[in-house]
Amino acid sequence: MTVENGQFVIQNQSVLALCEEFGTPLYVYDGDKIEEKANALKDAFKGVKMKIKYACKANTNISILKLMHTLGVDIDVVSPQEMAVALKAGFNPSQITYTSSGVSFDEIEVSINNDVLANIDNLPTLIKFGEKYGNSVPVLIRIRPNVEGGGNLKISTGHKESKFGIAIEYKEQILEIAKKYNLNIVGIHQHTGSDIKDGKTFVEVARVIFDFAMSFPDLKYIDFGGGFKVAYKDGDSVTDMVDLGEKISASFQDFCKKYGRELELWFEPGKFLVSESGFLFGNVNVVKENPTKTLLGLNTGLNHLIRPMMYDAFHDVVNVSKPNAAVNEVYDVVGYICETDDIAKNRELAKTDEGDIICIKNAGAYGFTMASNYNGRFKPAEILIYKNKVHLIRKRETLVDILANQILVEL
Ligand SMILES: *Cc1c(COP(=O)(O)O)cnc(C)c1O
Repeated sequence: MTVENGQFVIQNQSVLALCEEFGTPLYVYDGDKIEEKANALKDAFKGVKMKIKYACKANTNISILKLMHTLGVDIDVVSPQEMAVALKAGFNPSQITYTSSGVSFDEIEVSINNDVLANIDNLPTLIKFGEKYGNSVPVLIRIRPNVEGGGNLKISTGHKESKFGIAIEYKEQILEIAKKYNLNIVGIHQHTGSDIKDGKTFVEVARVIFDFAMSFPDLKYIDFGGGFKVAYKDGDSVTDMVDLGEKISASFQDFCKKYGRELELWFEPGKFLVSESGFLFGNVNVVKENPTKTLLGLNTGLNHLIRPMMYDAFHDVVNVSKPNAAVNEVYDVVGYICETDDIAKNRELAKTDEGDIICIKNAGAYGFTMASNYNGRFKPAEILIYKNKVHLIRKRETLVDILANQILVEL
């Protein structure tokens, strides 16, 4: 989003005009930004056979999935429902992986019945898999490398206390199960967490996983998960992709040489691909003076973007109705939910009036996908702008959606 000719635009589209046309609250995604991020990642790893598996839980709108498919990005799903949407969006089953975490075996069967590679994260499920499929179906295993990484504990998945993956200490058990059922283990997967700013974490994980992988002779893929950190505010440290690309590519090539075969290197970024592409626009319902501070009450809140309340996440906010304002004031931007729902605290914004539109940035990942109908409110509409074309990719909900599965009984 930039200012052109005195107004905020995304790809030449006036954001105020979009808010006028589609109403607020409104999610807007810049598809060209998604393309730019995908290309940056591809470039960083151009020296090795690398595949991007978009971790679609970050943003599952079917048109975003279609865009990923068009960009040559594969997909990682975490439920049969995401799998179904991915198939509908046009992905071939061979481009999908199903990363399960403690799911019922029925769901693994759904994956296999759809010819989708399943990623298994615990030993009992691996045994069931062996009993049912033996070596007739390839399988991926998720390892917990016991390496710390991630912006906060809720989104750290690779450490010793984490529920995720098969602990790396159980290598012998995995090998025993693999031998007993003649398993065709084609890939080793790990995902250390989200918001990993330190490239060293990936390098350390790589060392641990490459060492582990040497005991598995049938591998085709090494999957390093996602978790690249993106900037939420000016000066935020981010994962240095070029540097990471060089380091991981070099150690991957060394590993392939030692292993005796060239494998594919997989990454599963979610946030990295979609976070910056997304903007949530809300209308200022009220400018509320308090003795100590001034609040801006928006027509959105934690029902549409829960990250500030759930993760203490920082989201930059901009008053897009006042692109040229000289006077800045300090505000707390809050939601309209009957619960504390701070969006942004102590922020300097253009002097704001009722009816102005506030843009919440970096809302493309874990925004809409974590939205709810809390307080009985509708989920917003979603817009995708790609190559200067505006597409409505989700209609705003109505009362019909709220009542869809409710049953009014005779009492
Ligand atoms: C959530 C998740 C990701 C993506 O994490 P980001 O921080 O959004 O990049 C990747 N892999 C798995 C298995 C996940 O659960």
